[in-house]
Amino acid sequence: MKIVIAGAGIGGLTFAAKAKAGEHEIVVYETAPSEEAMRYEWHDDVSPEAFRRAGFDIPEGSFPKKDWTFVAPDGATVRRIYEDPSRADISVWRRKLNEELIRRAKSNARIVFGRRAESLVVENGRVAGIVADGEKIHADLVIDSTGADSVLKRDINVTRHEPDEIFEVYRAFYRKDPAAPEAEYTNKVYLKQMGESGIAWAIQDGDTVDVLIGRVGEMGEETLSRALRRIKEENPTVGDEIVMGGGIYRIPVRYPATRMVADGYAAIGDAAYMTIPMLGSGIASSMAAAETLVNVVYSALAEGKSAREAASKENLWKYEVAFYRETGAEHAGVDVMKRGVLDMPDDIVTWLLGSDILTNEEVCRLAKGKPIILGAADSLKKVAVAGIGKLPVLLKVNSMLMRVSKAIRTARRIPENYSEEAVARWERKLVRAVTGK
Ligand SMILES: Cc1cc2nc3c(=O)[nH]c(=O)nc-3n(C[C@H](O)[C@H](O)[C@H](O)COP(=O)(O)OP(=O)(O)OC[C@H]3O[C@@H](n4cnc5c(N)ncnc54)[C@H](O)[C@@H]3O)c2cc1C
Repeated sequence: MKIVIAGAGIGGLTFAAKAKAGEHEIVVYETAPSEEAMRYEWHDDVSPEAFRRAGFDIPEGSFPKKDWTFVAPDGATVRRIYEDPSRADISVWRRKLNEELIRRAKSNARIVFGRRAESLVVENGRVAGIVADGEKIHADLVIDSTGADSVLKRDINVTRHEPDEIFEVYRAFYRKDPAAPEAEYTNKVYLKQMGESGIAWAIQDGDTVDVLIGRVGEMGEETLSRALRRIKEENPTVGDEIVMGGGIYRIPVRYPATRMVADGYAAIGDAAYMTIPMLGSGIASSMAAAETLVNVVYSALAEGKSAREAASKENLWKYEVAFYRETGAEHAGVDVMKRGVLDMPDDIVTWLLGSDILTNEEVCRLAKGKPIILGAADSLKKVAVAGIGKLPVLLKVNSMLMRVSKAIRTARRIPENYSEEAVARWERKLVRAVTGK
């Protein structure tokens, strides 16, 4: 079997690392001219479980993530959360992670740098390879690991996303100003920063301050400079010199693709919208999905199926089903929550964060993308804490939480087996449950 992996993304590299090479041929085509030229200038929060599950060592230099302090849209109300250290994420240097994945991938696959996958080769409705720098490269299976802006999806019937389904982020590590007083909160995340549709953070890391500013949809220079000015005003520790980063990046912001596979094709990682910005999920999801994809493909081959059958839409669908049941369904719930919070008036978000209405555990769950479900007794307790005057607000919040649960339930009802009719029906229900349309 010949497998082409387009893009040395986390999912694609993990697939190559976990694949059984044997008589199969696996080639990764990466547009960056060399390993050193890949984007490496930051660290990411990842659940240690992701490494345990993949059987990989935790990359060298990783360190425990600090507890978040949320800043409400009013810029003044803060809420510190305390996570159970045994369940907290770790911060992993991206360079170290990629080095390790590339080292492992090379034992099974050939990695070709400086080759851009421009389009898919589609023959008789089936993906049969890629076109890279004008050359047709045939394959039984193409794994699209080219990230959020995958151009490969254009020619086939898989999910494509709208511009407002992207989160644009600026991230830079500034030298800490030695003259500035010590920050009271060293790990601040601003929700709906300045009342806008997005977040920002300022995190002190030794002698640098990690600054991120993100907006749903395109951010624009004016928005960025205004938001950055505000971050600097509110965090005097942010100095003038940029030590690392300083670029604009794009991350998917919506629920996972409802169609991530086609005959001869599977999208993975950001190309399939497997991430939720801020929740430390993209890397863990992509690694877990890669393992599932390896199992789905190689189990079919072990059962005596041909390469064509192993890469058929019907077989690859098992990968999408497993992803949705394990992770994707909760991502759909988080999407509902995100839309709900962004639509909520700023004063309500500020009140929710500043009051005792949500317990530490509930805020931790929400911050991890886990739903909270309120029974009748919990709701009554919350009314007692908030006072009867806040009942309309609580009803609004409760209705959002119910929509979250419904989206999760609907996503989990993904059809077990591929049939165009069943998939289209499920997709319609899921889109309605998440977007209300
Ligand atoms: C600033 C920032 C902070 C983040 N923080 C976290 C975090 O804390 N925790 C977390 O889990 N996730 C985080 N993420 C998300 C995480 O990086 C992604 O979810 C994860 O890397 C999976 O993305 P990917 O590997 O699919 O795609 P990418 O990382 O985008 O990799 C795609 C690869 O494909 C290559 N490529 C693109 N187009 C082509 C083409 N046409 N042909 C060939 N090669 C191509 C690119 O050069 C790149 O190497 C963050 C992302 C950003 C931008």
